Amino acid sequence: MMKETIYDIAVIGGGPAGIMAAGTAAAAGAKVILIEKNEALGKKLLITGKGRCNITTANTDPKEIISAFGKNGRFLFSPIHTFGVEAVIDFFNSRGLATKVERGQRVFPVTDKSEDVLKVLTTFLKKHKVKTIKNHKVLSLFKKRKQIKRVETNHGEVYANNFIICAGGAAYPTTGSSGDGYKWAESLGHSIVSPTPTLIPIRTKEKWVKELQGLSLKNVSITAYQDNKKQAERFGEMLFTHDGLSGPIILDISQKIGKLLADGEVKISIDLKPALDFPKLDTRIQRDFQKMSNKLVRNSLDDLLPKKLIPVIIDLSKIDPEKKINSITKTERNRILHLLKEFSFTVHSLYDFNKAIATAGGVNLKEIDSKTMKSKIVDNLYFAGEIIDLNGPTGGYNLQMCWSTGYLAGKNAFSKTTKKKGK
Ligand SMILES: Cc1cc2nc3c(=O)[nH]c(=O)nc-3n(C[C@H](O)[C@H](O)[C@H](O)COP(=O)(O)OP(=O)(O)OC[C@H]3O[C@@H](n4cnc5c(N)ncnc54)[C@H](O)[C@@H]3O)c2cc1C
Repeated sequence: MMKETIYDIAVIGGGPAGIMAAGTAAAAGAKVILIEKNEALGKKLLITGKGRCNITTANTDPKEIISAFGKNGRFLFSPIHTFGVEAVIDFFNSRGLATKVERGQRVFPVTDKSEDVLKVLTTFLKKHKVKTIKNHKVLSLFKKRKQIKRVETNHGEVYANNFIICAGGAAYPTTGSSGDGYKWAESLGHSIVSPTPTLIPIRTKEKWVKELQGLSLKNVSITAYQDNKKQAERFGEMLFTHDGLSGPIILDISQKIGKLLADGEVKISIDLKPALDFPKLDTRIQRDFQKMSNKLVRNSLDDLLPKKLIPVIIDLSKIDPEKKINSITKTERNRILHLLKEFSFTVHSLYDFNKAIATAGGVNLKEIDSKTMKSKIVDNLYFAGEIIDLNGPTGGYNLQMCWSTGYLAGKNAFSKTTKKKGK
Protein backbone atom coordinates (compact mmCIF):
# COMPACT_ATOMS: atom_id res chain seq x y z
CA MET A 1 0.00 0.00 0.00
CA MET A 2 2.79 2.37 0.94
CA LYS A 3 5.10 1.07 -1.78
CA GLU A 4 4.17 3.56 -4.49
CA THR A 5 5.34 6.62 -2.52
CA ILE A 6 9.03 7.36 -2.15
CA TYR A 7 9.52 9.97 0.55
CA ASP A 8 12.45 12.37 0.69
CA ILE A 9 12.91 11.41 4.30
CA ALA A 10 11.58 8.71 6.61
CA VAL A 11 11.97 9.52 10.30
CA ILE A 12 11.72 6.60 12.69
CA GLY A 13 10.43 7.44 16.18
CA GLY A 14 7.92 10.12 17.13
CA GLY A 15 9.59 11.47 20.27
CA PRO A 16 11.07 14.96 20.68
CA ALA A 17 14.07 14.28 18.42
CA GLY A 18 12.02 12.60 15.67
CA ILE A 19 9.29 15.25 15.68
CA MET A 20 11.85 18.06 15.53
CA ALA A 21 13.73 16.30 12.70
CA ALA A 22 10.57 15.56 10.68
CA GLY A 23 9.07 19.03 11.11
CA THR A 24 12.33 20.81 10.31
CA ALA A 25 12.86 18.83 7.11
CA ALA A 26 9.24 19.32 6.04
CA ALA A 27 9.37 23.05 6.80
CA ALA A 28 12.28 23.23 4.36
CA GLY A 29 10.13 21.59 1.71
CA ALA A 30 10.85 17.87 2.09
CA LYS A 31 8.24 15.16 1.69
CA VAL A 32 8.50 13.49 5.08
CA ILE A 33 7.01 10.43 6.73
CA LEU A 34 7.22 9.94 10.50
CA ILE A 35 6.87 6.37 11.72
CA GLU A 36 5.84 5.71 15.34
CA LYS A 37 5.06 2.35 16.91
CA ASN A 38 2.81 3.73 19.67
CA GLU A 39 -0.78 4.79 19.18
CA ALA A 40 0.34 8.39 19.83
CA LEU A 41 3.41 10.58 19.45
CA GLY A 42 5.54 11.80 22.35
CA LYS A 43 4.47 9.31 25.01
CA LYS A 44 7.68 9.89 26.98
CA LEU A 45 7.59 13.64 26.42
CA LEU A 46 4.23 13.73 28.20
CA ILE A 47 5.71 12.34 31.43
CA THR A 48 8.80 14.56 31.42
CA GLY A 49 9.30 16.92 34.33
CA LYS A 50 6.54 15.10 36.23
CA GLY A 51 4.07 15.99 33.50
CA ARG A 52 5.25 19.62 33.31
CA CYS A 53 8.10 19.10 30.78
CA ASN A 54 11.37 20.79 31.60
CA ILE A 55 11.83 21.80 27.94
CA THR A 56 15.38 23.05 28.20
CA THR A 57 17.76 24.95 30.46
CA ALA A 58 18.02 28.72 30.69
CA ASN A 59 21.80 28.28 30.75
CA THR A 60 22.69 29.81 27.40
CA ASP A 61 26.44 29.34 27.65
CA PRO A 62 27.33 26.70 25.02
CA LYS A 63 30.54 25.83 26.88
CA GLU A 64 28.64 25.02 30.08
CA ILE A 65 26.04 22.99 28.20
CA ILE A 66 28.74 21.03 26.43
CA SER A 67 30.60 20.34 29.68
CA ALA A 68 27.37 19.19 31.37
CA PHE A 69 27.43 16.23 28.95
CA GLY A 70 30.84 15.07 30.19
CA LYS A 71 33.56 13.77 27.95
CA ASN A 72 31.25 13.24 24.96
CA GLY A 73 29.86 16.76 25.24
CA ARG A 74 32.22 18.14 22.58
CA PHE A 75 30.09 16.38 19.99
CA LEU A 76 27.35 18.91 20.77
CA PHE A 77 29.41 21.92 19.74
CA SER A 78 27.83 22.15 16.30
CA PRO A 79 24.26 21.09 17.21
CA ILE A 80 24.16 23.63 20.07
CA HIS A 81 25.58 26.42 17.93
CA THR A 82 23.08 25.70 15.18
CA PHE A 83 19.97 25.24 17.32
CA GLY A 84 20.74 26.16 20.92
CA VAL A 85 18.78 27.12 24.00
CA GLU A 86 17.59 30.50 22.69
CA ALA A 87 16.47 28.93 19.41
CA VAL A 88 14.47 26.29 21.29
CA ILE A 89 12.80 28.82 23.58
CA ASP A 90 12.03 30.96 20.56
CA PHE A 91 10.67 27.94 18.69
CA PHE A 92 8.07 27.37 21.41
CA ASN A 93 7.38 31.03 22.29
CA SER A 94 6.83 31.98 18.65
CA ARG A 95 4.28 29.19 18.35
CA GLY A 96 2.25 30.50 21.26
CA LEU A 97 3.75 28.53 24.14
CA ALA A 98 4.96 30.93 26.83
CA THR A 99 7.79 29.64 29.01
CA LYS A 100 9.11 30.41 32.49
CA VAL A 101 12.38 29.76 34.27
CA GLU A 102 12.43 27.97 37.61
CA ARG A 103 15.06 27.03 40.21
CA GLY A 104 18.16 25.51 38.66
CA GLN A 105 17.56 27.42 35.38
CA ARG A 106 14.87 24.93 34.39
CA VAL A 107 12.59 26.11 31.59
CA PHE A 108 8.94 25.00 31.74
CA PRO A 109 5.80 25.97 29.86
CA VAL A 110 3.91 28.63 31.83
CA THR A 111 0.89 26.31 31.77
CA ASP A 112 2.90 23.56 33.56
CA LYS A 113 1.53 21.06 31.05
CA SER A 114 3.66 18.84 28.86
CA GLU A 115 0.59 18.30 26.63
CA ASP A 116 0.95 21.92 25.58
CA VAL A 117 4.53 21.26 24.47
CA LEU A 118 3.38 18.24 22.49
CA LYS A 119 0.53 20.27 20.97
CA VAL A 120 3.02 22.79 19.55
CA LEU A 121 5.03 19.94 18.08
CA THR A 122 2.11 18.12 16.48
CA THR A 123 0.82 21.40 15.04
CA PHE A 124 4.32 21.95 13.60
CA LEU A 125 4.09 18.54 11.90
CA LYS A 126 0.60 19.18 10.52
CA LYS A 127 1.44 22.65 9.26
CA HIS A 128 4.29 21.28 7.18
CA LYS A 129 2.31 18.25 6.04
CA VAL A 130 4.41 15.52 7.60
CA LYS A 131 2.72 12.19 6.97
CA THR A 132 2.53 10.54 10.38
CA ILE A 133 1.87 6.85 10.71
CA LYS A 134 1.19 5.61 14.25
CA ASN A 135 0.89 1.99 15.41
CA HIS A 136 3.62 1.15 12.89
CA LYS A 137 6.49 -0.71 14.46
CA VAL A 138 9.69 -0.64 12.42
CA LEU A 139 11.12 -4.13 12.26
CA SER A 140 14.22 -3.64 10.10
CA LEU A 141 15.99 -1.43 7.58
CA PHE A 142 17.27 -2.75 4.26
CA LYS A 143 20.56 -1.58 2.85
CA LYS A 144 21.86 -2.11 -0.70
CA ARG A 145 25.50 -1.16 -1.16
CA LYS A 146 25.92 1.94 1.06
CA GLN A 147 22.29 3.10 0.88
CA ILE A 148 19.20 2.20 2.84
CA LYS A 149 16.32 1.62 0.45
CA ARG A 150 13.35 0.86 2.68
CA VAL A 151 12.16 0.02 6.15
CA GLU A 152 9.91 -2.84 7.01
CA THR A 153 7.14 -2.19 9.53
CA ASN A 154 4.56 -4.56 10.99
CA HIS A 155 2.10 -3.05 8.47
CA GLY A 156 4.15 -2.96 5.29
CA GLU A 157 7.18 -1.22 3.83
CA VAL A 158 8.16 2.44 3.64
CA TYR A 159 10.45 3.77 0.88
CA ALA A 160 12.56 6.91 1.19
CA ASN A 161 15.74 8.55 -0.06
CA ASN A 162 17.01 9.36 3.44
CA PHE A 163 16.37 7.91 6.88
CA ILE A 164 16.65 9.48 10.31
CA ILE A 165 16.67 7.10 13.27
CA CYS A 166 15.24 8.71 16.42
CA ALA A 167 14.00 5.60 18.22
CA GLY A 168 15.24 6.78 21.66
CA GLY A 169 17.31 4.81 24.15
CA ALA A 170 16.34 1.98 26.46
CA ALA A 171 15.15 3.97 29.48
CA TYR A 172 11.53 3.80 30.63
CA PRO A 173 10.59 1.21 27.98
CA THR A 174 6.86 1.44 28.74
CA THR A 175 6.94 4.70 26.75
CA GLY A 176 8.10 2.88 23.60
CA SER A 177 11.84 3.46 23.88
CA SER A 178 12.85 -0.15 24.23
CA GLY A 179 16.22 -0.01 22.51
CA ASP A 180 14.98 -1.18 19.08
CA GLY A 181 17.21 1.31 17.26
CA TYR A 182 20.46 -0.20 18.55
CA LYS A 183 20.02 -3.45 16.66
CA TRP A 184 19.20 -1.66 13.39
CA ALA A 185 22.24 0.59 13.82
CA GLU A 186 24.40 -2.48 14.44
CA SER A 187 22.97 -4.34 11.46
CA LEU A 188 23.87 -1.30 9.32
CA GLY A 189 27.49 -1.45 10.46
CA HIS A 190 27.49 0.96 13.43
CA SER A 191 28.98 0.11 16.79
CA ILE A 192 27.03 0.64 20.00
CA VAL A 193 28.58 1.81 23.25
CA SER A 194 26.93 -0.55 25.72
CA PRO A 195 23.70 1.12 26.93
CA THR A 196 23.31 1.47 30.70
CA PRO A 197 20.57 3.21 32.68
CA THR A 198 21.35 6.65 34.09
CA LEU A 199 19.55 9.30 36.15
CA ILE A 200 18.04 6.59 38.34
CA PRO A 201 16.38 6.65 41.76
CA ILE A 202 18.24 4.92 44.60
CA ARG A 203 16.93 2.23 46.95
CA THR A 204 18.20 2.52 50.52
CA LYS A 205 18.77 -0.20 53.08
CA GLU A 206 16.84 1.89 55.65
CA LYS A 207 13.25 0.71 55.26
CA TRP A 208 11.98 3.53 57.48
CA VAL A 209 12.63 5.92 54.58
CA LYS A 210 9.02 5.06 53.62
CA GLU A 211 7.86 7.37 56.43
CA LEU A 212 9.34 10.26 54.44
CA GLN A 213 7.77 9.27 51.12
CA GLY A 214 6.81 12.32 49.05
CA LEU A 215 8.87 14.78 51.09
CA SER A 216 10.90 17.07 48.87
CA LEU A 217 13.89 19.00 50.23
CA LYS A 218 15.32 22.11 48.62
CA ASN A 219 18.82 23.54 49.14
CA VAL A 220 20.34 20.47 50.73
CA SER A 221 23.70 18.98 49.94
CA ILE A 222 24.43 15.30 49.55
CA THR A 223 27.76 13.50 49.73
CA ALA A 224 28.47 9.94 48.61
CA TYR A 225 31.07 8.06 50.65
CA GLN A 226 32.88 4.81 50.11
CA ASP A 227 35.20 3.47 52.82
CA ASN A 228 34.67 6.80 54.64
CA LYS A 229 36.14 8.65 51.66
CA LYS A 230 34.19 11.44 49.98
CA GLN A 231 33.46 10.41 46.39
CA ALA A 232 30.92 12.89 45.03
CA GLU A 233 28.85 15.85 46.14
CA ARG A 234 25.75 17.68 44.89
CA PHE A 235 23.68 20.62 46.09
CA GLY A 236 20.03 21.27 45.29
CA GLU A 237 16.70 19.51 45.43
CA MET A 238 15.89 15.90 46.33
CA LEU A 239 12.93 13.73 47.18
CA PHE A 240 12.17 10.70 49.40
CA THR A 241 10.34 7.78 47.83
CA HIS A 242 8.66 4.68 49.29
CA ASP A 243 11.96 2.81 49.23
CA GLY A 244 14.71 5.37 48.88
CA LEU A 245 15.85 8.63 47.36
CA SER A 246 15.12 10.47 44.13
CA GLY A 247 14.83 14.02 42.78
CA PRO A 248 17.33 16.02 40.71
CA ILE A 249 20.53 15.78 42.79
CA ILE A 250 20.02 12.07 43.52
CA LEU A 251 19.39 11.31 39.84
CA ASP A 252 22.45 13.33 38.86
CA ILE A 253 24.72 11.48 41.30
CA SER A 254 23.28 8.04 40.46
CA GLN A 255 25.66 7.23 37.61
CA LYS A 256 28.65 7.76 39.92
CA ILE A 257 26.98 5.66 42.64
CA GLY A 258 26.41 2.87 40.14
CA LYS A 259 30.14 2.79 39.41
CA LEU A 260 31.05 2.88 43.12
CA LEU A 261 28.67 0.05 43.97
CA ALA A 262 30.75 -2.26 41.81
CA ASP A 263 33.55 -1.78 44.39
CA GLY A 264 31.52 -2.06 47.58
CA GLU A 265 29.14 -0.33 49.95
CA VAL A 266 28.16 3.31 49.33
CA LYS A 267 26.71 5.69 51.90
CA ILE A 268 24.85 8.90 51.17
CA SER A 269 24.93 11.63 53.75
CA ILE A 270 22.44 14.49 53.51
CA ASP A 271 23.37 17.84 55.00
CA LEU A 272 19.97 19.30 55.82
CA LYS A 273 21.46 22.67 56.77
CA PRO A 274 24.39 23.28 54.44
CA ALA A 275 24.31 27.06 55.00
CA LEU A 276 25.27 26.57 58.66
CA ASP A 277 28.45 24.83 59.77
CA PHE A 278 28.46 22.66 62.91
CA PRO A 279 29.13 25.47 65.46
CA LYS A 280 26.64 27.85 63.83
CA LEU A 281 23.93 25.21 63.68
CA ASP A 282 24.63 24.26 67.29
CA THR A 283 24.19 27.90 68.34
CA ARG A 284 20.95 28.04 66.36
CA ILE A 285 19.65 24.85 68.00
CA GLN A 286 20.54 26.12 71.48
CA ARG A 287 18.72 29.37 70.75
CA ASP A 288 15.61 27.49 69.59
CA PHE A 289 15.76 25.19 72.62
CA GLN A 290 15.97 28.14 75.01
CA LYS A 291 13.00 29.78 73.33
CA MET A 292 10.94 26.59 73.61
CA SER A 293 12.38 25.19 76.83
CA ASN A 294 9.01 24.21 78.31
CA LYS A 295 7.77 22.48 75.18
CA LEU A 296 8.08 18.74 74.51
CA VAL A 297 11.02 17.33 72.56
CA ARG A 298 8.70 16.24 69.76
CA ASN A 299 8.11 19.96 69.04
CA SER A 300 11.74 20.98 69.42
CA LEU A 301 12.60 21.10 65.71
CA ASP A 302 9.48 22.89 64.47
CA ASP A 303 11.45 25.95 63.38
CA LEU A 304 14.23 23.96 61.72
CA LEU A 305 12.72 21.12 59.73
CA PRO A 306 9.70 20.19 57.60
CA LYS A 307 6.98 18.51 59.68
CA LYS A 308 7.40 15.06 58.15
CA LEU A 309 11.08 14.91 59.01
CA ILE A 310 10.79 15.81 62.72
CA PRO A 311 9.52 12.48 64.18
CA VAL A 312 12.10 10.57 62.11
CA ILE A 313 15.02 12.69 63.34
CA ILE A 314 13.81 12.53 66.96
CA ASP A 315 13.36 8.79 66.70
CA LEU A 316 16.90 8.38 65.33
CA SER A 317 18.28 10.64 68.07
CA LYS A 318 16.81 8.22 70.63
CA ILE A 319 15.59 11.11 72.78
CA ASP A 320 12.24 10.58 74.48
CA PRO A 321 9.85 12.75 72.42
CA GLU A 322 7.60 13.25 75.44
CA LYS A 323 10.19 14.82 77.72
CA LYS A 324 10.67 18.57 78.09
CA ILE A 325 13.18 20.37 75.88
CA ASN A 326 14.90 21.87 78.95
CA SER A 327 15.94 18.38 80.04
CA ILE A 328 17.83 17.58 76.81
CA THR A 329 21.49 16.87 77.61
CA LYS A 330 24.43 18.20 75.62
CA THR A 331 25.14 14.70 74.28
CA GLU A 332 21.54 14.42 73.11
CA ARG A 333 21.70 17.84 71.47
CA ASN A 334 24.88 16.77 69.75
CA ARG A 335 23.12 13.72 68.36
CA ILE A 336 20.47 15.99 66.83
CA LEU A 337 23.17 18.28 65.45
CA HIS A 338 24.91 15.37 63.74
CA LEU A 339 21.66 14.01 62.33
CA LEU A 340 20.92 17.39 60.74
CA LYS A 341 24.38 17.67 59.20
CA GLU A 342 24.87 13.98 58.39
CA PHE A 343 21.49 12.36 57.79
CA SER A 344 22.85 9.10 56.42
CA PHE A 345 21.62 6.26 54.25
CA THR A 346 23.24 3.11 52.92
CA VAL A 347 22.60 2.43 49.24
CA HIS A 348 20.83 -0.87 48.69
CA SER A 349 20.75 -0.69 44.89
CA LEU A 350 19.88 1.44 41.92
CA TYR A 351 16.76 0.97 39.86
CA ASP A 352 17.15 -0.43 36.35
CA PHE A 353 16.10 0.80 32.90
CA ASN A 354 12.43 0.61 33.92
CA LYS A 355 12.81 3.68 36.13
CA ALA A 356 15.77 5.39 34.46
CA ILE A 357 15.30 8.88 33.04
CA ALA A 358 18.01 8.45 30.41
CA THR A 359 20.41 6.03 28.75
CA ALA A 360 24.18 6.28 28.91
CA GLY A 361 25.80 4.73 25.82
CA GLY A 362 24.29 4.29 22.38
CA VAL A 363 25.38 4.78 18.77
CA ASN A 364 29.10 5.53 18.76
CA LEU A 365 29.67 9.26 18.21
CA LYS A 366 32.84 8.59 16.23
CA GLU A 367 30.63 7.20 13.49
CA ILE A 368 28.38 10.27 13.21
CA ASP A 369 29.29 13.63 11.66
CA SER A 370 28.38 16.15 14.38
CA LYS A 371 27.93 18.94 11.84
CA THR A 372 25.10 17.11 10.05
CA MET A 373 24.15 14.11 12.26
CA LYS A 374 24.85 11.96 9.19
CA SER A 375 26.22 8.46 9.57
CA LYS A 376 29.82 8.08 8.48
CA ILE A 377 29.03 4.49 7.52
CA VAL A 378 25.76 4.61 5.60
CA ASP A 379 25.25 7.29 2.91
CA ASN A 380 21.64 8.22 3.55
CA LEU A 381 21.32 7.62 7.29
CA TYR A 382 21.09 10.16 10.15
CA PHE A 383 20.65 9.83 13.91
CA ALA A 384 19.23 12.17 16.55
CA GLY A 385 18.20 12.10 20.20
CA GLU A 386 18.79 9.67 23.01
CA ILE A 387 19.83 6.83 20.69
CA ILE A 388 23.29 8.40 20.32
CA ASP A 389 25.98 8.08 22.99
CA LEU A 390 25.18 11.31 24.83
CA ASN A 391 23.48 11.87 28.16
CA GLY A 392 23.31 14.95 30.30
CA PRO A 393 22.20 15.84 33.82
CA THR A 394 18.63 16.72 34.82
CA GLY A 395 17.51 20.29 34.19
CA GLY A 396 16.34 20.19 30.56
CA TYR A 397 19.73 19.21 29.11
CA ASN A 398 18.56 15.91 27.64
CA LEU A 399 15.64 17.43 25.79
CA GLN A 400 17.86 20.26 24.57
CA MET A 401 20.16 17.62 23.08
CA CYS A 402 17.14 16.06 21.32
CA TRP A 403 15.92 19.39 19.88
CA SER A 404 19.44 20.36 18.70
CA THR A 405 20.36 17.04 17.12
CA GLY A 406 16.84 16.54 15.70
CA TYR A 407 16.92 19.97 14.07
CA LEU A 408 20.35 19.38 12.57
CA ALA A 409 19.42 15.94 11.22
CA GLY A 410 16.19 17.23 9.66
CA LYS A 411 17.89 20.20 8.09
CA ASN A 412 20.79 18.23 6.63
CA ALA A 413 18.90 15.16 5.49
CA PHE A 414 16.81 17.46 3.31
CA SER A 415 19.63 19.57 1.95
CA LYS A 416 21.23 16.32 0.87
CA THR A 417 18.02 15.30 -0.90
CA THR A 418 17.78 18.59 -2.77
CA LYS A 419 21.43 18.49 -3.76
CA LYS A 420 21.01 14.98 -5.08
CA LYS A 421 18.04 16.00 -7.18
CA GLY A 422 19.97 19.03 -8.42
CA LYS A 423 17.22 21.37 -7.19
C1 LIG B 1 10.17 10.08 33.67
C2 LIG B 1 11.05 10.91 32.77
C3 LIG B 1 11.11 12.27 32.93
C4 LIG B 1 11.94 13.05 32.11
N1 LIG B 1 11.96 14.40 32.29
C5 LIG B 1 12.75 15.16 31.49
C6 LIG B 1 12.72 16.57 31.58
O1 LIG B 1 11.89 17.15 32.30
N2 LIG B 1 13.60 17.27 30.82
C7 LIG B 1 14.50 16.66 29.97
O2 LIG B 1 15.30 17.35 29.35
N3 LIG B 1 14.49 15.32 29.82
C8 LIG B 1 13.64 14.57 30.53
N4 LIG B 1 13.61 13.21 30.35
C9 LIG B 1 14.44 12.64 29.26
C10 LIG B 1 13.72 12.84 27.90
O3 LIG B 1 12.40 12.37 28.02
C11 LIG B 1 14.46 12.10 26.79
O4 LIG B 1 15.75 12.65 26.69
C12 LIG B 1 13.74 12.25 25.45
O5 LIG B 1 12.41 11.82 25.49
C13 LIG B 1 14.47 11.46 24.36
O6 LIG B 1 13.85 11.79 23.15
P1 LIG B 1 14.00 10.88 21.85
O7 LIG B 1 13.13 11.50 20.81
O8 LIG B 1 15.42 10.65 21.56
O9 LIG B 1 13.42 9.48 22.30
P2 LIG B 1 11.98 9.07 22.87
O10 LIG B 1 11.31 10.18 23.54
O11 LIG B 1 12.23 7.83 23.64
O12 LIG B 1 11.16 8.74 21.56
C14 LIG B 1 11.50 7.65 20.75
C15 LIG B 1 10.25 7.22 20.00
O13 LIG B 1 10.61 6.18 19.08
C16 LIG B 1 9.57 5.22 19.09
N5 LIG B 1 10.08 3.92 18.65
C17 LIG B 1 10.97 3.12 19.32
N6 LIG B 1 11.15 1.97 18.64
C18 LIG B 1 10.37 2.05 17.52
C19 LIG B 1 10.09 1.16 16.45
N7 LIG B 1 10.62 -0.07 16.40
N8 LIG B 1 9.24 1.57 15.47
C20 LIG B 1 8.65 2.80 15.52
N9 LIG B 1 8.84 3.67 16.53
C21 LIG B 1 9.70 3.29 17.53
C22 LIG B 1 9.12 5.19 20.54
O14 LIG B 1 7.83 4.63 20.68
C23 LIG B 1 9.19 6.65 20.92
O15 LIG B 1 7.98 7.33 20.72
C24 LIG B 1 12.76 12.43 31.12
C25 LIG B 1 12.69 11.05 30.95
C26 LIG B 1 11.83 10.29 31.75
C27 LIG B 1 11.76 8.81 31.54
